[in-house]
Amino acid sequence: MSFGYKPELSEGAIKCPIFQTSTFVFKSAEEGKSFFEVAYGLREADEAEEPGLIYSRINNPDLEILEDRLSLWDKADDCAVFESGMSAITTVMLEFLNPGDVILHSLPLYGGTDHFIQHVLPRFGIKGMSFYPNESISELRNRIHEAGLSDKVRMIYVETPANPTNSLIDIEACKKLANELSTSDNKVFVAVDNTYMGPLWQHPLKHGADFSIYSATKYIGGHSDLIAGAVCGSSENIKRVKVLRTFLGNMCGPWVGWLLMRSLETLKVRMEQQCSNAQIIATWLKDHPKVEKVYYLGLIQESDPQYQIYKKQYTAPGAMLSFDIKGGEKEAFRFLNALNIIKLAVSLGSTESLAEHPYTMTHAGCDREQLAEFAVTEKLVRLSIGIEHADDIIADLEQALAAV
Ligand SMILES: *Cc1c(COP(=O)(O)O)cnc(C)c1O
Repeated sequence: MSFGYKPELSEGAIKCPIFQTSTFVFKSAEEGKSFFEVAYGLREADEAEEPGLIYSRINNPDLEILEDRLSLWDKADDCAVFESGMSAITTVMLEFLNPGDVILHSLPLYGGTDHFIQHVLPRFGIKGMSFYPNESISELRNRIHEAGLSDKVRMIYVETPANPTNSLIDIEACKKLANELSTSDNKVFVAVDNTYMGPLWQHPLKHGADFSIYSATKYIGGHSDLIAGAVCGSSENIKRVKVLRTFLGNMCGPWVGWLLMRSLETLKVRMEQQCSNAQIIATWLKDHPKVEKVYYLGLIQESDPQYQIYKKQYTAPGAMLSFDIKGGEKEAFRFLNALNIIKLAVSLGSTESLAEHPYTMTHAGCDREQLAEFAVTEKLVRLSIGIEHADDIIADLEQALAAV
C-alpha cells in the first residue's frame, strides 16, 4: 500500500497527494537538459537515475507510483497506465503491429476491441484472423499455414475467460504457437486482456504472455466511478508503449491515478468477497427451477475438457457469471426489470452487483451466427457480483425470478 511513495518528498503526507499539475519546475537549466536527454533517448539513464519530472503527458508522480504498484500485482518489470482500457489495448496494437501484419485473436472479444480490429486496423493494412476457444492449437496452426499467413502473424491477442460465458484459452499454448511463428526479425507477441480475472486470479505473464492488459475501470477501479486502463510487461516493451503514449497523449490524469491508488488498497478484500459471493449465488442459481444453465468457473467439473486449463491458469473462479433463464428475451427482460438491489447496467467488477442482457446489450454489435457458437442467445443473462451480503443478492434474484 505504501510501495513507491516517499512521504519526505511530500511534506510528510502519509498518502500520496494528487499532483494536479501540468508541468514541473526544473532546479536549473542543466537539470532540464539532463531530464530531456533521458526522456528523448539522447543518452541512456545511469543505473540509479530516475526519470526527471518534466510535463504530465510524459510523467507524473501519481501515475509513476501507481504503475510501480500495478507492476507488483503482475510481477511485471513495468506498467503503463491509460485514460481507458481501450487506450491501453489500441496503443499496444498500434505500437507492435505494422502494415501487412496479421493479428490472430480469440472470439468473442470485448466489443470495442472487436470494432478496432475489424474496422480501424484494416485502414492501416493490418488484418485480423479469429479463433474459437474450443479450437485446438494444432487445428489453428493448420489453418494459419493453409491461409499462407505463417510469416504474417505478429500478435496473438486473447481474452480468457471469454465474456460472457467463461470459456477458457490456454495462454501457454498460445505462447508456444507464437514461438513457432516467430523468426529472428519477426517476434510474435502474446497479449492477454486480463480485465475479467486480474490482477488477482490470473497472471498472464507467468504463463508466457508479453502483455497483461486491463480495463482498470473494472476490478482495479472497482467502484464504478472512473474510466482507466493499464498494460504490464517487460521494461523493453513497456518503454515502447510509453513512448507511443506520450505522442498519442492518452495517459491517465493525476486525479484518476490517485483514485486508482486508493482503490488498489482494497483490491484483494473486494475481489475475495465478490468471488465468495459469486460461488454462493452460482450454486443457488443452478438448482432454481426457472434457470436452465449456469456458466461459472466455480461449477466446472473435472470431466470438462477446460478443467486442466482452469487448474493451471486460475487461482479462483472469479465473480462473473451468466445463466440461461428458461424462455427467451421476454423472460430475461421480466427478470431484469424486476431487480432492485442488483442494478441493470453494463460494466463489471464493481462493489455493487450488476446485471445485463448480452444478446441485446454488450454483444448487440456481434455477428448473430457467431454469438450462437458462444451460447450467447436471448435467454442469457450476465451478472457481475458485488460485495453486498450474499443473502441480500439471493433475495433480490429470488423475487425477480418469481416475477417471471
Ligand atoms: C470494459 C472492457 C474493456 C474496455 O475498457 P474501457 O476502460 O471501457 O475503455 C476492454 N476489455 C474488457 C474485457 C472490458 O471488460
